[in-house]
Amino acid sequence: MFVRYPVLLSTILLLQSPVFGTELNDAVRDDYETHLAKLFDYFHRNPELSLVEFETAKRMASELREAGFEVTENVGGTGVVAIMKNGAGPLVMMRADMDGLPVEEKSGLPNASRKQQQSPISGATVYTMHACGHDVHITSLVGTARQMAARRNQWSGTLMLVVQPAEERVLGAKAMRADRIWERFGTPDYALAFHVASSDLTGTINITEGSPYAGADTVDIIIHGVGAHGAYPHRGKDPIVLGSQIVLALQTLVARELPPREPGVVTVGSFHAGTKHNIISDTAHLQLTVRNTNEETRQLLLNGIKRIAVNMGRAAGLPEDKLPEVIISEESVPPTINDPVLTRRLKNAWVGAMGASTVVDNPVKGMGAEDFPYFSVDPAITSVYWQVGGTPAEDFKREAAGGEPVASHHSPLFKVAPESSVRVGVESTVVALMELMGR
Ligand SMILES: [Zn+2]
Ligand SMILES: [Zn+2]
Repeated sequence: MFVRYPVLLSTILLLQSPVFGTELNDAVRDDYETHLAKLFDYFHRNPELSLVEFETAKRMASELREAGFEVTENVGGTGVVAIMKNGAGPLVMMRADMDGLPVEEKSGLPNASRKQQQSPISGATVYTMHACGHDVHITSLVGTARQMAARRNQWSGTLMLVVQPAEERVLGAKAMRADRIWERFGTPDYALAFHVASSDLTGTINITEGSPYAGADTVDIIIHGVGAHGAYPHRGKDPIVLGSQIVLALQTLVARELPPREPGVVTVGSFHAGTKHNIISDTAHLQLTVRNTNEETRQLLLNGIKRIAVNMGRAAGLPEDKLPEVIISEESVPPTINDPVLTRRLKNAWVGAMGASTVVDNPVKGMGAEDFPYFSVDPAITSVYWQVGGTPAEDFKREAAGGEPVASHHSPLFKVAPESSVRVGVESTVVALMELMGR
């Protein structure tokens, strides 16, 4: 295949053409058969939890080094940065997250994980699983590294491959930034990433011009009451009653204050109070997750939560120094927002090289969050985040016929078609990189 390249790659137009797409497709299929299938199998059988991805990072470092990249380990914990300098041109960053989850795999796959690891959170030994498909991301990153190294004469610029820890705890990207990734390796002109998606048909690329992932805030509300005997409620201030009123009043924020076409979520995920049947507690604790796709919505929701909690406290007759406390965690994640111009540019490149039927635009229904924006805001970096379909058509048909549903991410039943997911992962990334750096 190397003999054919110089003939094919004389113009940039060819890089977006079906001819290039076919050539790339063949090359990635060959590499999957000889190398990537085994690598995926290894990662799938050996998932590691957030922040303790030691073996995964080691394997990624050696794979990327072998592919010809200059590799630095332990960036922001277990993070790995691999650089290939290849002449003048843009610095383009591609990120893959590598952590698994504390889930016992029940997918029924022959290579299902039986791995156990000590949880850095609880200290307990737990089963681990690649229940979000990050094994597809890292295997694809290696495939991309190998394709880009083999095609060095076709592109010009600097390629930065980032293997990120702890996405599931939204800690890894922040940790790599805190470890001065931009200062040490250069600030990218473009930042890219993809996620495999069980909700999309395998073989497809799902790309939206909007916001594929929401911004997320974590909020605690501490409600102070006055403790009393359960039979003497007039002697106390019941924080359970007040907490219940606050939970219900919070429902009006999205239903009645947010414009109806504007997405937002306020979920009270935990409500803890009290110790015994006949004691009025002196405190209640609510834990919330709050989601947005822009700063305006974020401020509306956070300010609304404060206003409701504090004023419901006043309505309950609490003194000014005992009003509910609203604590907004500093660990907020900004929304992932695709640059519209780059999105259209990459979409055209994918359609050109991989065919129009490969590229879809299925709007995202949920308000899941990602920590990728730590790589694309402050400073602002032009970025695109796409999805690679993971589920075969027959699984969707079975579900539509009332059969077993397609398992969601983080489920013990989660599974994706590895070969087509990894191959489209590599191909979509290489086409995107060639679009930005192709000669
Ligand atoms: Zn996940
Ligand atoms: Zn994920």
